[in-house]
Amino acid sequence: MSVKHEQSARAFREAKNFIPGGVNSPVRSFGAVGGVPPFIARAAGSKIIDIDGNEYIDYVGSWGPMILGHAYPAVTEALQQAVLNGTSYGAPTLLETELAKLINELMPSMELVRMVNSGTEATMSALRLARAFTGRNKILKFVGCYHGHHDSLLVKAGSGAATLGIPNSPGVPDSIAGNTLTVAYNDITELRSVFAEMGQDIAAVIIEPVAGNMGLVLPKQGYLGAVRQLTEQYGALLIFDEVMCGFRVALGGAQSVYGVKPDLTCLGKVIGGGLPVAAYGGRRDIMEHIAPAGAVYQAGTLSGNPLAMTAGIVTLKLISQIPETPRQPDFFHKLTAKTKQLCQGLQAQAAKFELKLQFHQAGSMFGLFFSDKAVDDYDSAKQSDAGAFNTYFHAMLEQGVYLAPSQFEASFMSAAHTDEDIAATIAASAIAFARVADYYKAK
Ligand SMILES: *Cc1c(COP(=O)(O)O)cnc(C)c1O
Repeated sequence: MSVKHEQSARAFREAKNFIPGGVNSPVRSFGAVGGVPPFIARAAGSKIIDIDGNEYIDYVGSWGPMILGHAYPAVTEALQQAVLNGTSYGAPTLLETELAKLINELMPSMELVRMVNSGTEATMSALRLARAFTGRNKILKFVGCYHGHHDSLLVKAGSGAATLGIPNSPGVPDSIAGNTLTVAYNDITELRSVFAEMGQDIAAVIIEPVAGNMGLVLPKQGYLGAVRQLTEQYGALLIFDEVMCGFRVALGGAQSVYGVKPDLTCLGKVIGGGLPVAAYGGRRDIMEHIAPAGAVYQAGTLSGNPLAMTAGIVTLKLISQIPETPRQPDFFHKLTAKTKQLCQGLQAQAAKFELKLQFHQAGSMFGLFFSDKAVDDYDSAKQSDAGAFNTYFHAMLEQGVYLAPSQFEASFMSAAHTDEDIAATIAASAIAFARVADYYKAK
């Protein structure tokens, strides 16, 4: 059962000579779990194949975007066609309106939509807009929520930053971080008291309505509604960062599940179908302040790129039930059921070893914490056992199951995962949980 990874080990050494840490996004380096990250040669459906020829069942899915599975034929065929028409014009196309319209149909709170290239850019622009619109400077975020890596939001940011134990990055000036207030997730009392003290200075509250960057953490009953009520009361904008959970927890995003309408929404990941696309949008009266409709400047040479729009359009059409498109009536229902099936299978295996774990699921997102206590915020997430996770992670990887290499990341199901994949994953977990039980015994 030993997996060969000589080629990846060599590739990693070589990459480090030319790329900081050998990767272009930190969590890819396996810094938290140790070992060599497999370098990927190709992917198809539910599988990724590394340069040593190992095949893995992939539950990372490029960190969320690959909801249809890898190299989905309708997406790759549309891209092949699109590439023949040229890859970028720096001028408007029909494709941009088409994707914006699709997003608006699926998430009606997004009346106007601006395309950008990354989630970071989306949240950065949404904050600038919120500050301009309200004439206020302070931003409020929640500890453990990640919104990308720009200065205002790289404060207590969970995810890659949590994995590497970097609470606040060096290089973020105090003068900027000082305008970012942080409050514990799911704690409405603390939020109320911050608003009571500084509510008039707060331009916006930005939140992952389903948090996926401290592991998967769900909002408590009534919590998002209370956040909405408070922001309204104090005239602060509410920004839902649905870069991860949008088109993952449900077709209409977390806002449709919890029935809370934000002023602005940020999207990314799934809306690009594996190409670099993100977007921000929301209330027309707010979005009309964006240039050239208004004075708030934001631009992008490759924004709305035709290849990226094409992948996004095909993906959203396929996962939605919009008439005139290939119908997938039960797409989300099936995907959610499949995710539940996997989680229940994993849970049953863990129970055999009397492991007390916290299993969380929202639509096609899932995660588990090696902790015997409920996890509902960053502090409780941090109390899970890192050694147990690493044992589990490596045992799964050895058996051909590729999970996110950090306890503080969610996992993702795709439409391409088969019953066999799920059965194989559950079988692998029996061995992995046995090792975790040994780890606890030895502790
Ligand atoms: C991934 C993510 C981002 C950042 O998106 P990038 O495209 O990596 O810049 C922002 N917010 C959330 C919730 C995310 O999951």
